[in-house]
Amino acid sequence: MHCVVCDKTIGKSGYKIQCRKCDGWAHLNCTNIAKDDIHDKKKIDWHCKQCRDSSTSALEEELEEEASLREKLDRCIKRRQSQIYEHSPSTQDMFKKLLKKLRAWKKR
Ligand SMILES: [Zn+2]
Ligand SMILES: [Zn+2]
Repeated sequence: MHCVVCDKTIGKSGYKIQCRKCDGWAHLNCTNIAKDDIHDKKKIDWHCKQCRDSSTSALEEELEEEASLREKLDRCIKRRQSQIYEHSPSTQDMFKKLLKKLRAWKKR
């Protein structure tokens, strides 16, 4: 078992704490939690740095948005390929907008 903070082995003895999200363990000394706090359930609701970062990551949200956008685009393309694509202005507009947004993403 390795500490998710310092990456060193966690011995059987000594205080440790488990991340609520990824279930990784850390030395209590590697966190800002005091020894007395580990009996307090609210205070031991601890998340390791990686999990804290990922939960606040705007990038992750962006990636999710991009994935859903790709899905929509995919559906548009498929509809077009299967010839049941209707040339209604609204559908074409949406298609153009999606393409534009996707291109802007690729540039970054
Ligand atoms: Zn550690
Ligand atoms: Zn974690």
